[in-house]
Amino acid sequence: MRIRLVVVFVIFVCLAPFLVKQILVANRERAESLMEMERSMRTSLERVQDMLLETQADVENIASSISISNSFQNTSPEQCSRRLSKLGNLYTSIEHLSILTPKAIVYCSSIAEAHGLQVKTTDKFFKSVHNNDTYWGDPQVSHISRTLVVPSVTAIRNDLDVDYLVVASLKAETVLNKALTLFDIALAEAAIIGTEGGILISKLFSAGQPVIGGDLVERNLGSFLDVRQENLNGGAPYYVGTLKLPMNNSRLLVLSSLDVVNDHAWSRLKSAVLTSVGETVVLAAIMMFLAEFFFIRNLRRIGALAGEISAGKPGQRISVRSPIADFNRLTSALNLMVDTLEDTSLHDALTGIANRRALDGHLGVCDRLLAEGKGAIAVAMIDIDNFKLFNDRYGHAAGDRTLRSVGQTLRRFGKRQGEMAARYGGEEFTLVVGDGDTDQLRAHLEAFRRAVEDLNIPHPDSPHGRVTVSIGYAVALPGTTTQQAIERADEALYRSKDGGRNRVSGELHLCPA
Ligand code: GH3
Ligand code: MG
Ligand code: MG
Repeated sequence: MRIRLVVVFVIFVCLAPFLVKQILVANRERAESLMEMERSMRTSLERVQDMLLETQADVENIASSISISNSFQNTSPEQCSRRLSKLGNLYTSIEHLSILTPKAIVYCSSIAEAHGLQVKTTDKFFKSVHNNDTYWGDPQVSHISRTLVVPSVTAIRNDLDVDYLVVASLKAETVLNKALTLFDIALAEAAIIGTEGGILISKLFSAGQPVIGGDLVERNLGSFLDVRQENLNGGAPYYVGTLKLPMNNSRLLVLSSLDVVNDHAWSRLKSAVLTSVGETVVLAAIMMFLAEFFFIRNLRRIGALAGEISAGKPGQRISVRSPIADFNRLTSALNLMVDTLEDTSLHDALTGIANRRALDGHLGVCDRLLAEGKGAIAVAMIDIDNFKLFNDRYGHAAGDRTLRSVGQTLRRFGKRQGEMAARYGGEEFTLVVGDGDTDQLRAHLEAFRRAVEDLNIPHPDSPHGRVTVSIGYAVALPGTTTQQAIERADEALYRSKDGGRNRVSGELHLCPA
């Protein structure tokens, strides 16, 4: 488990620079987008300014063309009105045209009902009348058309006297709509603000509450053309663009939400993070699969084998075919070690024949055969005669050599399938043969006894003058156990000892109890 965590951690560490780079790129893109947005808003406002200047020039042209043409004044009010209507229709931004007397009474107008009416905002015409130029009024609700208009007034002069005034009214909504078509960026809100700071006309382009008003208007009343970032509406970021209308002191205020840019930067960052997390997961899966395939699986098998060995169980051999040569070498060494361990755990170190553990295992197998009703298993117990005296005379080293010789001799007599020559313990040996035939068994054991005798190892303290063995045997038949056979063989061994040693005694058939 830990190795997998390490793999994931390492991959994350490797991907960290990529992630940091993505964050920096997203941030830079966000900053660039904001700069681009600010630039775009400024350019759009400049375009609107140009458009308004053109409109202003148009109106002034119309006004001056009317003011210098006697054909308007020298006609009847009805005819004058018709001509004004025709002229007004040529300009989409013109709401209506009127010619007023110096007392601000409508002489003729493109609005038929306006004829003869007194225009209430007389005082506002004062500037135009005295300066001989066009006076632009603040957008206001026309008391004649009942719509929001941007009025302009130009004096019609007769020598030095003012005879009449030309009034051209622009529709504030048309001005605003024309201005809005010139924006390259998406706007959230736009409004025309009057000199006093009141919202005269506004448009909302997105769902939600309007933001323009109060403090925002006040803050922007002083600027001519400005774009700045502000947090409005409870902290939401906006670009606020302000433009002073060239014809009066009103302002065009436009708002563009930065949420789109922020959302874009955030979603770009999110997708970069998700991509790298996805890549991490895939890479981790691949690396873990490779680690599992090439290392962990093999290590687990090697560990399991080592566990079996330390638990004393007969170890299985493992075959690991890995492209990593070290693994192959390790498993070969391990298999060899198991071989050696098994060999040492089942063989007697002194004589080289099977030890007591191997004998017990073999007897277990024999017992299973007997329980299944198969075979007759002969067990012979062998004891070296007067061995203590031999040791006493020649010492333990010589005793060990003798034990080894007897063991090696015995090995030759237990070589067939199912047979085993083992050191039972001390100077006692056991021979297991699968021979139930009386004569053959006895002859076999006699042959062994003679073979030991023929080793001719001097033993002056033995009545036989050389090293000999006494043998007792018994045959286990189906229904009996090897343990019972060993006990009977032991009894027979005592009989051999009692009978003068260097002899073979035994029971031929051990009958089931
Ligand atoms: P008996 O004929 O009645 O069997 O007499 P014994 O002397 O052989 O019998 P006893 O059981 O009294 O002695 C067995 C001796 O075997 C005692 C011990 O010194 C010797 N012996 C047992 N294991 C070893 C061994 O591994 N090496 C040597 N050198 N001697 C051993
Ligand atoms: Mg003994
Ligand atoms: Mg003995």
